[in-house]
Amino acid sequence: MDETVRSANFIHNIIDEDLRQGKYAEGIHTRFPPEPNGYLHVGHAKSVCLNFGTALKYAGLCNLRFDDTNPVKEDTEYVDSIEEDVKWLGFSWDKRKFYASDYFEQLYAYAEKLIEKGLAYVDDLSAEEIRTYRGTLYEAGKESPYRNRSKEENIDLFRRMRAGEFADGEKVLRAKIDMASPNLVMRDPVIYRIAHTSHHRTGEAWCIYPMYDFAHPLSDAIERITHSLCTLEFEAHRPFYDWLLDVLEFDANTRPKQIEFARLELANTITSKRKLRQLVEDKLVAGWDDPRMPTISGMRRRGYTPYAVRDFCERIGVAKANSLVDPAILEHCVREDLNEHAPRVMAVLRPLKIVLTNYPENRTEELTAENHPTGGGHRYVPFSRELYIEQEDFAEEPPKKFFRLKPGGEVRLKHAYIIKCEEVIKDDDGNIVELRCTYDPDSKSGGASANRKVKGTLHWVAAKTAIRAEVRLYDSLIVADEEGNVPEDFLEALNPESLEVLKDVRVEPSLERTAEGSRYQFLRQGYFVVDSDTTPEQLVFNRIVGLKDSFAKVKKG
Ligand code: ATP
Ligand code: MG
Repeated sequence: MDETVRSANFIHNIIDEDLRQGKYAEGIHTRFPPEPNGYLHVGHAKSVCLNFGTALKYAGLCNLRFDDTNPVKEDTEYVDSIEEDVKWLGFSWDKRKFYASDYFEQLYAYAEKLIEKGLAYVDDLSAEEIRTYRGTLYEAGKESPYRNRSKEENIDLFRRMRAGEFADGEKVLRAKIDMASPNLVMRDPVIYRIAHTSHHRTGEAWCIYPMYDFAHPLSDAIERITHSLCTLEFEAHRPFYDWLLDVLEFDANTRPKQIEFARLELANTITSKRKLRQLVEDKLVAGWDDPRMPTISGMRRRGYTPYAVRDFCERIGVAKANSLVDPAILEHCVREDLNEHAPRVMAVLRPLKIVLTNYPENRTEELTAENHPTGGGHRYVPFSRELYIEQEDFAEEPPKKFFRLKPGGEVRLKHAYIIKCEEVIKDDDGNIVELRCTYDPDSKSGGASANRKVKGTLHWVAAKTAIRAEVRLYDSLIVADEEGNVPEDFLEALNPESLEVLKDVRVEPSLERTAEGSRYQFLRQGYFVVDSDTTPEQLVFNRIVGLKDSFAKVKKG
C-alpha cells in the first residue's frame, strides 16, 4: 500500500496514546460496517480508507462487517457490490468478512442476560406511545407502565416474541436505563423489535431483530475491535455503547472505543443512500454505476482511479467538525493521477473535414507521436490528404486572439505539418462542411521549416483511417444552491444537461484494440475511459474529467 493512507490525524493521536498506555496489546483492530441497503458512495470511501488505512498504518486488522439487522431494505446485490467496491479501492479483509446476522444467537443471549440483570424489559406500548413517553430535550420522559415487569415475566415474554407469538409492533424489548436522562438515547432505548420478515441470510429463522444501537457495540466487542470509528451523528449514542459494554462486563482495557469523525459532504453532490436509490429506482440515471453517480461504482465506470479516490480521502483529512468539501479537489486528484499515467492520443469530438489540396491523393504517411510527454515510447499515426479537426478550431470570423484556424491563417497539426486555410466550402444552407487547405511539406519534424513558428497547434485525425466512436460527456447531476448544498427536493434540481452524447467522434486507429477500462488523454480535450458499453462494432468513451483544473487555479490564487 502506498503512503496515501498513512499520515496522522486526531484518531491516530488517540490510538498512539492508547498504545503508550499499554492498551490493546494484541494490536489495532478496526472494521468497516456498511448496511447492505445500497451501493457505497464517495462518503463511504472516506470511511473505508480511514478504517482500512488505520489498520495498515498500525500493522493491525480491519474487518468488513455487514450490518444486516434490518431485513426489510437489505439485499445480497448490495453485499456483492460493497465487496467489489472495497476491493477496487485496494483494500483486503482476507478471511474477515462478517455479518451482524452471524451474531443473532449471541446477541439474543446478551439480551436475556440484560433481562436477568433487571436491565431490560418487554414493553407493550406502541411505537407512537414510546415516542410521546420519551419526552423532549427540555422535558423528562415518562416511564412505561410495563417498565417494572418481573424478570420472569420479561424472559417469558421475550422468548414468546422470539417464538413468533406476537405481531409486528405489538411488543419491543427495551433497555432499562433512565427516562429522565438529559440524553434522549439513554431513555430506555428499544433494543429488539418484532418483524415477521424474511432475512437475506437467516431466512425465516428469526422474527425479532436487534436494533442497530444494540447490535453494533456488541458486534464490535465480539470481533474484538479496538477502535470503532463512526460518523458524528453517533456521538449521542456513545453513552449507550459504553453502558452496554459496562453492564455486560467487557474488560475496560480491551473493549472497543467509539470515536466519531465528520462525515464527508461534497458540495453539489448527493451523499444520501436513500436519494441515490430513488434516482436508480425512478430510472433518472442508468443505474447505480451511472458515471454521473457519486457511488464508488459510478466513479469506477466514470474512469476515476482507485489511487485518486484514496489520495482525495487522504487530502481532505479526518476532523471532528462537519464541512462541505469542493468536488474540484476530487477532480484535481483524478487529473493528477491521469496526467502522470494516461497515454496521449488524438480524437476529434465534433469533426470538420479538411482536404489538403497539395497532398498526393493516395499517399499515407506514418508519423511518429510520443505516447506521453515524460516518456513511454512512441506510436505511429497515419496522415493523409483528408483529415478531421474540431469544428470549434475553425472560425470564419475569428474573435481577437483566436490562435486556431481561420481563412488565410496557418496552424500546426500536432506531430505533423503546418497547414494553411485556403477556402471554406459551405452547403446550400450556409453551413461550413469542409475546408480546403494546403500543407507545408518541409514543416514536419526534421524538415527544413520544422521550426517555423505558428501560433496554434491543433489535434486531428486522418479521415480514411479514423475509427468512429461514441463519447459521453458528463456534467453535475444536480444544480445545487450557491453554497453547493443539494436542495431537500433534489428531484426538482436535476440538471437536464448532465449527459451529452456525441455519436460521430473520430479517434486515431491506434485505439482499435483498446480494452474496457483503458484511460487516455485525448489531446486538448480531457481524460477519457473506454466504457463497458463498448462492443466490437462500437467504441464508447466516457469523459472522466476535462483538462482545466479549477482547484489548481484556486490554489495558485
Ligand atoms: P444509512 O445508515 O442511513 O443507510 P449510511 O450512509 O450511514 O446510511 P452505512 O452503510 O451505515 O450507511 O455506512 C457505513 C459506514 O460508512 C458507517 O460507519 C458510516 O458512518 C460511514 N459513512 C457513511 N456515510 C459517510 C460519509 N458521508 N462520510 C464518512 N463516512 C460515512
Ligand atoms: Mg449508517
